[in-house]
Amino acid sequence: FNVVNSIRKYGGLKDQDRIFTNLYGRHDYKLKGALSRGDWYKTKEILLKGEDWILKEIKDSGLRGRGGAGFPSGLKWSFMGKASPGRARYLVVNADEGEPGTCKDREIMRHDPHKLVEGCLLAGRAMLANAAYIYIRGEFVLEANNLQVAIDEAYSKGLIGKNACGSGYDFDVYLHRGAGAYVCGEETALIESLEGKQGKPRMKPPFPADTGLFGCPTTVANVETVAVAPTILRRGGSWFAGFGAPRNSGTKLFCISGHVNNPCTVEEEMSIPLRELIEKHCGGIKGGWDNLLAIIPGGSSVPLLPKNLCETALMDFDSLRDLNSGLGTAAVIVMDKSTDVVQAIARLAEFYKHESCGQCTPCREGTTWLNNMMGRFATGKAHVREIDMLYELTRQIEGHTICALGDAAAWPIQGLIRHFRPELEARLKSSASDYEPILNAAST
Ligand code: SF4
Repeated sequence: FNVVNSIRKYGGLKDQDRIFTNLYGRHDYKLKGALSRGDWYKTKEILLKGEDWILKEIKDSGLRGRGGAGFPSGLKWSFMGKASPGRARYLVVNADEGEPGTCKDREIMRHDPHKLVEGCLLAGRAMLANAAYIYIRGEFVLEANNLQVAIDEAYSKGLIGKNACGSGYDFDVYLHRGAGAYVCGEETALIESLEGKQGKPRMKPPFPADTGLFGCPTTVANVETVAVAPTILRRGGSWFAGFGAPRNSGTKLFCISGHVNNPCTVEEEMSIPLRELIEKHCGGIKGGWDNLLAIIPGGSSVPLLPKNLCETALMDFDSLRDLNSGLGTAAVIVMDKSTDVVQAIARLAEFYKHESCGQCTPCREGTTWLNNMMGRFATGKAHVREIDMLYELTRQIEGHTICALGDAAAWPIQGLIRHFRPELEARLKSSASDYEPILNAAST
């Protein structure tokens, strides 16, 4: 991936309104560089304005969680409330970025770690938290290093720790490296892993805001969500709300991979048309727009969009939901006409089978079935009537599991059947006779 740093030639979001990517590739990630870019500016004053002011600005900004779910951040950050004074409470930052196609948080931690550390302090202040634990994906070695440098610098300058920024508020930041399990990106599995246990999701309730890390009130938030908070608080919630569309405000990092001329991570306005995003920042589809087959717009867990829907799709939570897909992590995976789309979705089915923690039956058994069936679909060794059986199987998994991994396994296959059924049928028809006896035997 190249990080786009030549955005000036394009229209759209102005450089001065970019929080991150206008700076990538040409700046110092350490404190000196961060200060020159305005990080840690008037942080003490913001802290002294108090939790109610911070929460109001975040609510006014319309910021929604950037980890995929899109839950309103101001509301989420207020869940721990002011109850139980004296009880420890924590902010946990989810930096376990493992969703296939997603590499936005990686860029923040690699190039702008001070934005995240300062964001932890301010978000933590809003929640009346005592400490932040940043749970970083184990494979992110360089990013963990840069982040630890930033944390150490912040401690040495009194920006965090006792009497952070001279505000009278004590706040610690700890970095914890994960060990490579995708499911630890789920908030309760992440908490279990932080506590030193196997990373397996917990049943909810109780919710983390009541019983989270070490049994204490905890709020888990995504890296990007936390890292944009200082800029929002300095420039005002209404500034951030001025970008994008109603209920889908602000700027957003998009990571675009696959069959484009220039794969990149870029910050743009929410609700930018998908086609414009690709043509402005990625140099277009390889072979031109007409060579496009389909796009997964939000990481591997959301259904793909065929070319005709990509023409008009807007990149925000609500617009993509209306197309039976989702913004997810805003990882845009582009497939041109050279792609075997059945094989591509079969590969995802294999991924989810591998990453299932095995706690609940619909996911453990269902992802195995999905993987087996998609493997046969990819090689044409299935009967056309199994398409409906496969769809029914996804419906039996969806919504019947402890965490969203089951849904994530089901949705890409539902998208494939919804949009590429004729292609599936054509692939299977040629070998149908071979499988008639097997299916007839199974039904008697
Ligand atoms: Fe584990 Fe899958 Fe159940 Fe999630 S849905 S708890 S990953 S078995």
